[in-house]
Amino acid sequence: MDITSESSARLLIDASYLLVAFLFIMGLKQMSSPVTAKRGILWAGAGMVIATVVSFAYPGMSNYVLILAAIGVGSAIAWVTGKRVAMTDMPQMIALYNGMGGGAAAAIGAVELFSGEVHDSVALTLAVVGSVIGCVSFSGSLIAFGKLQGLIKKSYRFSGQQFFNVLLVLGIAASGVMVAMGGASTAVTATLFGLALLLGLTMTLPIGGADMPVVISLYNALTGLAVAFEGFVLNNAAMIIAGTVVGSAGTLLTQLMAKAMNRSLGNVLFSGFGDSGGGSSSAEAVTGSMKAIEANDVGVMMAFAQKVIVVPGYGMAVAQAQHKVWELTQLLQDKGVTVKFAIHPVAGRMPGHMNVLLAEAGVPYDIIADIDEVNAEFETADVALIIGANDVVNPVARTDKSSPIYGMPILNADKARNVIVIKRGQGAGFSGIENALFYLDNTRMLYGDGQAAVAQLIHSVKALG
Ligand code: NDP
Repeated sequence: MDITSESSARLLIDASYLLVAFLFIMGLKQMSSPVTAKRGILWAGAGMVIATVVSFAYPGMSNYVLILAAIGVGSAIAWVTGKRVAMTDMPQMIALYNGMGGGAAAAIGAVELFSGEVHDSVALTLAVVGSVIGCVSFSGSLIAFGKLQGLIKKSYRFSGQQFFNVLLVLGIAASGVMVAMGGASTAVTATLFGLALLLGLTMTLPIGGADMPVVISLYNALTGLAVAFEGFVLNNAAMIIAGTVVGSAGTLLTQLMAKAMNRSLGNVLFSGFGDSGGGSSSAEAVTGSMKAIEANDVGVMMAFAQKVIVVPGYGMAVAQAQHKVWELTQLLQDKGVTVKFAIHPVAGRMPGHMNVLLAEAGVPYDIIADIDEVNAEFETADVALIIGANDVVNPVARTDKSSPIYGMPILNADKARNVIVIKRGQGAGFSGIENALFYLDNTRMLYGDGQAAVAQLIHSVKALG
């Protein structure tokens, strides 16, 4: 390539990256509202396509057949798995994709560091940092996937684990400094990568499966950072921008999730809370008994109510009851009942889980409210209809200091005149503790699978004419 065509290729690349940056940032902005989220994903996706296509214009590019084959294989796998994945399996899917991102960043770093062609100390340092973060994110995310998919059922701990991790960090720091100073042997570089991969494993294996969504969000932020660092090494603006956006968005999401669960990040990473899908219970015992109710009685209660607030939770996702819930809502609205949906920020198993399901069923956004908007309204609601939610409506979070969920903001469903809880039996929620709400005088339990129970409610409301 002569100098003129090389500089015009550079100009094309830089101009395209400006457009890519615009598409990424605007896409992310649109993802912050359910109304525009779908468009936001398309914008960001278009940005990614442009960034990929424009890479082919890089001066000195070769191996086109290999690259196209890799893109073809990767796209085909992603297309098929993306189409097939169930909504409840989305967290492990994200873990897997995120791990691939971290692995890709580490692979770029490996090419740079093993080639011995990088001599600039700043570039070497950035390549080392990006590679370490990418390796930790890669192996950690794979463990997170294994736990969420049920392939790894136990949390592995041994005495002195934290000390061992500190030794690993020191080993990574020592070999990292040697590589960054230049001229390190292949063995030292390989040790750096090996130790970083091992750290991802030993950091993630002791964490309970139930805390994995927060951990994935953290690794997502780390992957973004790793990509940004490698972008500096390759002098690639699109990688720097995409990596920084992912890094900051992931950090904010991790903080929001931890806050909504009233946990610190340190507590998530080091406490071992949430083994086997539920936390340990140190809460005070709840006294009293649960009182069951028939679907027909609930149907009458709701049909003659003025205001019903629906609280969906993880069980609604498991039962895939969202379409039936929307059908019931429309029936009630036809009878003049005001129906609202109250969404807790960590209801379900991933951020926005309930919003996605309700949007899929066609529930309009203006009747879906966040915890802050809706909490004061429970006092004026005739019925709080809880479908497969548990921890997010547990009043002990307000009162019992010994409870693992103490301090977590909860939906004030207990303040409604009548509380109807749909669940299959006595199963605990994610935190593994008893729910005091189920024992209150104004609470009645409608036992059954979420979808079947709501179908019964539809039947009984229809029967009222
Ligand atoms: P929970 O996990 O607390 O409770 C779900 C309830 O649904 C269970 O008590 C279960 O009872 C019931 N259930 C399960 N299957 C069905 C079914 N087919 N039909 C009807 N009911 C069913 O859910 P919440 O949404 O209230 O709380 C989410 C929890 O997950 C919080 O503790 C949160 O901190 C945690 N978490 C959330 C994350 C997020 O990003 N959203 C990430 C990580 C953790 P039964 O077995 O008796 O039916």
